[in-house]
Amino acid sequence: MTGHDDDTTRKEHHDEAAVIDTAGMSAGKVEALELAEASRESLWAYPTFAGALFMGQLRWDLIHPFPLGPADRDEEGEAFLERLETFLRTRVDPDEIDRTGEIPDEVVRGLADLGAFGIKIPKEYGGLGLPQQYYSRAAMMLGSYCANTAALLSAHQSIGVPQPLLQFGNEEQKRRFLPRTARGEISAFALTEERVGSDPARMETTAEPTADGKQFVINGRKLWCTNGTKAGLLVVMAKTPPKVRRGRTINQITAFVVEANAPGVTIRQRCRFMGLRSLYNAVIDFENVRVPRENIIAGEGKGLRVALTTLNTGRLTLPANCVGAVRACLRMARHWSNRRVQWGSSIGKHAAIADKIGRMASSLFALEAMTMLTSMLVDGKKTDIRIEAAMAKMWGTEAAWQIAYDTQQILGGRGYETAESLAERGDTPYPAERVLRDMRINTIFEGSSEIMRLFLAREAMDPHLKAAGEAVNTRLPMGRRLSAGLRALGFYAKWYPQQWLPLSMPSTAGMEPALAREVRWVARTARKLGRRMFHAMLAHGPKLEREQVLLGRFVDIGTELFAMAATCSRAQQLVASGTDRGEVLALAGHFCGGARRRVRDAFRGIRSNDDAAGYRLAQQVLDRDLDWVYRGIVRTSLEPAAERAEELASR
Ligand SMILES: Cc1cc2nc3c(=O)[nH]c(=O)nc-3n(C[C@H](O)[C@H](O)[C@H](O)COP(=O)(O)OP(=O)(O)OC[C@H]3O[C@@H](n4cnc5c(N)ncnc54)[C@H](O)[C@@H]3O)c2cc1C
Repeated sequence: MTGHDDDTTRKEHHDEAAVIDTAGMSAGKVEALELAEASRESLWAYPTFAGALFMGQLRWDLIHPFPLGPADRDEEGEAFLERLETFLRTRVDPDEIDRTGEIPDEVVRGLADLGAFGIKIPKEYGGLGLPQQYYSRAAMMLGSYCANTAALLSAHQSIGVPQPLLQFGNEEQKRRFLPRTARGEISAFALTEERVGSDPARMETTAEPTADGKQFVINGRKLWCTNGTKAGLLVVMAKTPPKVRRGRTINQITAFVVEANAPGVTIRQRCRFMGLRSLYNAVIDFENVRVPRENIIAGEGKGLRVALTTLNTGRLTLPANCVGAVRACLRMARHWSNRRVQWGSSIGKHAAIADKIGRMASSLFALEAMTMLTSMLVDGKKTDIRIEAAMAKMWGTEAAWQIAYDTQQILGGRGYETAESLAERGDTPYPAERVLRDMRINTIFEGSSEIMRLFLAREAMDPHLKAAGEAVNTRLPMGRRLSAGLRALGFYAKWYPQQWLPLSMPSTAGMEPALAREVRWVARTARKLGRRMFHAMLAHGPKLEREQVLLGRFVDIGTELFAMAATCSRAQQLVASGTDRGEVLALAGHFCGGARRRVRDAFRGIRSNDDAAGYRLAQQVLDRDLDWVYRGIVRTSLEPAAERAEELASR
């Protein structure tokens, strides 16, 4: 099948508002959903590998042979990575950075001299002009060594000024700002507010146009702005005056590039966290801050689209950081498991520890495969990677957390002790405690795991919503619903039988038999996934959107299938290029075995679960019906702390 004519490539624009039935939703939810729908990238200009899995298709041709990057940049890319490695090893002390809460100025300057602030910025704007694959590999290296410097460079390049300008900026903006950011002027991204975490519709920061329309005046407060205390440039999201379209008021969020030293910009607080202790993260006040209209990115009202689209690629940095951190974990676990003898043998020979090490190694292999595959697809520019990047972020950050946890468990007491304390008595200063602290945030920021599952569910359902959304939308006129229903019947009459018949199997000719078997299993299971999702749609109708846990299972199955496919493609490429065959197949085989079990469990969970009982019980907890369960605790009041925080904030 070719890439551009099937139902995984969807070029047409749809009335996005019409495909989701908002009847019965609260006003806040309708507002959040409408804003998200208006801001999401509705166009699928390229095929989607992972999206197709949910429609029962394995587009093996899109990822096999494993895509290789543009070879012409290899020499420069490898040389940069070498310089970065030497710099980190000789000039950066991650424990010191963690202990002091500061990244020394000479480290920041040194990274800037290396070009690490402008890895992907084209040379004409002063950057290194390297492809995504090298950006990801740099992120892996940084993540393996120092999460604080990794976060500094990631917030700057993945969500700060460079990425949105590269994707949406006009030529004048690129010339004005990109050379500054490439040289090492730090940038930051300011979306979150007190009432805006996962829900940008609640945004309160405003940007009002001046009478002559040449400037905007920003007022508001932004929370948790990474790099905020050091930044020279900020991307700020603010509400601009609403538009009225077809009698409906549509809220507008606009993205501005703001000079951090502009009058009215005040750093109110440097926030401190469990990990990432050197994060230069700030609460920033904007009081009558004037910004020229020319600093709007992509146009008025396009801010959230800028943020969401930027993150579609930007969030790949986090799984890349996690690959590095997991490599460091595996190295520590191996070292200690070989060295530590208990009950007559090294602990690595005890099955309970060996089991963890096996899973760590094969998960690392899969995570690296997902991240590098998606990075290569970004460079290839012929595939839509929004689903793959979100899967890598969600799956990768969750797997990495488990691995950091297991590493600590394997190291026992030494995993809980700080590296500094270990060093004080001459023991190996394993940084497992720091890695665990630094790792925790990854499932929360740049789209929490819960929001990633919702995002993935929405994108996975897109073909169904386009085919049948209008037909089941109770808010639409009956005539429109009927004609949409007829169109939907036509679509499903063709699509549904295909989910039972193995008409086209992926071509696995020339592949290692063990890998080919896994690929065929993925193809069969993708069809089962397509069927089961369709059955769930029939069973729940428009209410399926509310079944977050059920949808989460579908998303998890699709993600495991993507991880398996990426793993097999990567393994085949490594074997073909001469990496030890037995080792590669052992890693891939072990990963696929575990993924199959998780997929089967998730399918079982779709059929039989206690989701409804769990939901009811949670509501009882929230309604305070179960007050007796708190017997015996010290009952400090939580309310005054919240009131005090609000009082402080209003000062
Ligand atoms: C260290 C750090 C650095 C950060 N850096 C930046 C930055 O540079 N720029 C910036 O703008 N922001 C930044 N943030 C903010 C970060 O992106 C938010 O913390 C994140 O978006 C989650 O928002 P929240 O913490 O308000 O959680 P909430 O939105 O309050 O969510 C709380 C919980 O509810 C879940 N949840 C929320 N909505 C739903 C739903 N509809 N369905 C199911 N579950 C739901 C969430 O997943 C989460 O588990 C940073 C935060 C931290 C802690």
